[in-house]
Amino acid sequence: PYDGPRTAEILRKRSEFLSPSLLHLYKNPLNVVDGKMQYLYDEDGKRYLDAFGGIATVCCGHCHPEVVEVIVNQIKRIQHSTVLYLNHAIADFAEALASKMPGDLKVVFFTNSGTEANELALMIARLYTGCHDIISIRNAYHGNAAGTMGATAQSIWKYNVIQSGVHHAVNPDQYRGAFGTEGEKYAKDVQEIIDFGTSGRIAAFISEAIQGVGGIMELAPGYLPAVYKTIKKAGGLCIADEVQSGFGRTGSHFWGFEGHRVIPDIVTMAKGIGNGIPIGAVVTTPEIAEVLTRANYFNTFGGNPVCTAAGHAVLRVIEKEKLQENASVVGSYLKDRLKKLQEKHEIIGDVRGRGLMIGVELVADRQEKTPAKAEILNILDHMKEMGVLIGKGGYHGNVFRITPPLCFTKEDTDFLVDVMDVAMSKL
Ligand code: PMP
Repeated sequence: PYDGPRTAEILRKRSEFLSPSLLHLYKNPLNVVDGKMQYLYDEDGKRYLDAFGGIATVCCGHCHPEVVEVIVNQIKRIQHSTVLYLNHAIADFAEALASKMPGDLKVVFFTNSGTEANELALMIARLYTGCHDIISIRNAYHGNAAGTMGATAQSIWKYNVIQSGVHHAVNPDQYRGAFGTEGEKYAKDVQEIIDFGTSGRIAAFISEAIQGVGGIMELAPGYLPAVYKTIKKAGGLCIADEVQSGFGRTGSHFWGFEGHRVIPDIVTMAKGIGNGIPIGAVVTTPEIAEVLTRANYFNTFGGNPVCTAAGHAVLRVIEKEKLQENASVVGSYLKDRLKKLQEKHEIIGDVRGRGLMIGVELVADRQEKTPAKAEILNILDHMKEMGVLIGKGGYHGNVFRITPPLCFTKEDTDFLVDVMDVAMSKL
């Protein structure tokens, strides 16, 4: 049993010693003290089904024994910077990661987070093309440092910092967008941005395959292939942000962009890559990677032995435990069950996503699509009381985000959907 500090004491310290901007998800915040695969435990030993572990990077499951063992063994042996010294872990993981990539994408730069990975990717694109303009999609989230906050396109995640050379394209939103599911129609906006907002040449286009923070919105089909063509014509590079949609989560493919039949010039990743260990990566072609030899790129902990050994173990576990296949099978079952629930509850406006990256958008009125902002918090809290944790997102904060560890089962799915049903019935 847990005998450490309890909720009230932690809250007191948080309010006194931590940033006043920190968020917590629940009315009565949860003190998480233990984790095991798809379960979390609070200070009283109460078990919760974690259907939002994906955001906190857990793809194999909390404290997966094989990943933990690799981390512990490596940290007992050596933890250091591998910018100046050799170590096999970084090289082995880079090789393994490159083997999961299509085309000529085989040079890896390691970072410590998704923000850092995207910052690096944007800089590489600017260096390679000699251009400054970046296009990202409205409703995107790409990070919280100067460049990536500019590329992020939701006011709730932006401070009033100088945003230089970033243009935000119309979101190919299949639920609320003007063109419905017709991706190619939205793509025309990217050409117009280039024609009317730039010199005609740009550095890069960056996008998620499925917007995570934006409320699990899969870009309308046909959008990315059309945009990639437009970007290449304007001399730009295409960057795929796989921070949420990578590592088998979409089930049908290992990377989210593969579901859209495109090959990016640069791929960025973080979160699931280390199963909870902080690590990010940028993968590109040898030709593009060459631009970083113009000066020194130094990142003290990027690619350190502990984090890269963990990442390598994650790839082995995904393969050995067939987690991508599981995401596909369990994810389809989850989506089917949620679609049935939609027939019962008017409040469910949309069920969407792929694999174990599923969104449920709540609306007060199906015709008007009025965001059901208050109701979602109520359901979220109620589900927590019944032992199920899910996330929320979307610009209006009215979309449930279901991104569990990839070891999630059909039984877990039944429990989640039944609990959601009860919570919605009690509204
Ligand atoms: N890209 C995407 C798609 C993300 O969802 C996030 C984090 N929510 C980031 C980048 C930034 O990653 P990090 O928080 O590790 O900096």
